[in-house]
Amino acid sequence: MSLSVMILEKEGGLAQTEFLEPSRKGYCLSCLDAVKTLQETGRFGEAQNELEDALRESENWREMAVACLLLGELFNKWGAASPSYTIAIMEKGAIYANRAVQLWQIARDEKLFEENPEDMDHLSSALYWKALNLASVAGLGGCERWTVLEALQAATEAAEQMSAMEDKKHSASEVKARRDFVEGIIVFCRAKALEGNHVSPTDFSDCYHQDTKDEVNFLRHQCLELFISAQEILSAGKQTMCDQNIKATTMIAVTYRLLGEREKAISWSEKEVQGRLQLHGEWNPRTQLAKRNLSMLKGITDEDEIEEDCCKLFSFESARSIKSEEITWSLDPFKLSSTWRMNCLLKIFLLTGVVKEFQIEEDKLIKFLQKVRKSYHDENPFHNWYHAWSVTHCAFMLMKETAIGKILGMKEKLAVLIACLTHDLSHPGVNSDFLIKSASPIALQFPFSNVLEQMHWDEARSLFEEGRETNFLSHVQEELRAEILEMVHQGILATDMQIHKQIVNSLSNRRDSLADFEEDDMTLLSDKAMTVYDATSPADRLELFKAVVHCADLSGQVMEAPVAYSFGRAVLEEFHQQAQREKMENLQESAFMKNLHE
Ligand SMILES: [Zn+2]
Repeated sequence: MSLSVMILEKEGGLAQTEFLEPSRKGYCLSCLDAVKTLQETGRFGEAQNELEDALRESENWREMAVACLLLGELFNKWGAASPSYTIAIMEKGAIYANRAVQLWQIARDEKLFEENPEDMDHLSSALYWKALNLASVAGLGGCERWTVLEALQAATEAAEQMSAMEDKKHSASEVKARRDFVEGIIVFCRAKALEGNHVSPTDFSDCYHQDTKDEVNFLRHQCLELFISAQEILSAGKQTMCDQNIKATTMIAVTYRLLGEREKAISWSEKEVQGRLQLHGEWNPRTQLAKRNLSMLKGITDEDEIEEDCCKLFSFESARSIKSEEITWSLDPFKLSSTWRMNCLLKIFLLTGVVKEFQIEEDKLIKFLQKVRKSYHDENPFHNWYHAWSVTHCAFMLMKETAIGKILGMKEKLAVLIACLTHDLSHPGVNSDFLIKSASPIALQFPFSNVLEQMHWDEARSLFEEGRETNFLSHVQEELRAEILEMVHQGILATDMQIHKQIVNSLSNRRDSLADFEEDDMTLLSDKAMTVYDATSPADRLELFKAVVHCADLSGQVMEAPVAYSFGRAVLEEFHQQAQREKMENLQESAFMKNLHE
């Protein structure tokens, strides 16, 4: 690696640094290219190892400075590709970029290079990343090394030095675009620090409003103007987006979203997704994040519509107009509108017969479903509302089309639907093991090996507390309600993979006990199942009930190919993100979650 940095130095360019990209096309150095690839596929931890090795092995100040610069850039991208920026990542990024700046500045003062264009480019690039990383540190509330105010001050100075250097070299408009973008980020992060109550408006000599909310709003409009200005300059006369343009586009979308202007946020978000698809490809972590943000934005809009216009869009009337034949195995949750998905659930409750059987209050069931939907985190690649919806859909299809529906009673059927809907409620996107290793507050609250399932159940149970508008079982006789909820509890615990083997064994034993047992995995789905499960036995029904919830939870991969593929990718992505966090937070790494992009 050290050698590569040296070669790089001789060839005189940083193939990877996007900031320098326009003038650096054509440099393709194997090792840095490898780092670039690692970074583009989201394998930031591996890229970090490569670069830190290079830094350790560097033989002169220039090699060191280049490695630091690349690390400053790497951590910025790592932070930006994570669902939430973390101070640990941004602080490292700021420290490395700052070191790179110091090394080039010392070298310049010592006259180790005389206005050498490559060194000048590198220095201005290091200043760029220093400004961005320090602004992010400020936005996150500062760190041990820099308080919010110090970080903002240092970011502003770096941005000024960068502009001053570039004035000599680049065209005036390019310089302006870059300066506007960096300034926009600094203003944006100042607003973020204010909003997080890390500072107050009066901490700044140049505050415009005393009230935090007013000031934040004012700053957001100010940075929006800067981002738009940068974006317009960068787009002028160009057909395709460059990296810098995408960054500005992203920030415009984000700022509009924060300002509550959803339509504009969606339209800019769409531009971002298009640009990232063109420039980075489908599976680049930033493309994925952009897509998730866009669907979240659209989802939020739809949900708001639902709330505002609840009677018209999401209602039993609409649900009743769905034909039962419309609910088939081949429904693709990713292609359905969010309103249809919700109405489909109501239809499922109707078709199962539980609404009539338990005289479920329609208003409360609607409130329950809305609350459940909102409790899933859209930012999780896998454990989100699509998954919960799909699990419920699968369990319904099993009950509708196989002997299972003839064996389970109404209580079990209702419990299946509730358990499937709530089985991953408020899932944090990491597994129980991670929560325990990182001593998360959730793990302290539920000190069991199945932390998550305990938490999901706790959340589910709270929806049925007395007086809650989501408690659609409030009028059901107490003993019966307790029985149903206990079954829901058992169902949620049955989604714990630790009991996977136990459930598979229970199914195999039942199948093997069939008189005319055939080597056919589908046997239990035929009416033969009715001869091995006693529909009058509560224990048999409970066993089958748990198997249904467990199997539905794992059903993503038996759906039609596009759906199976989407769920498969999503689960890998979520594991991959956990592996990255384990690395960042120095936790023992989960072997099965590593290297999933290979
Ligand atoms: Zn699940």
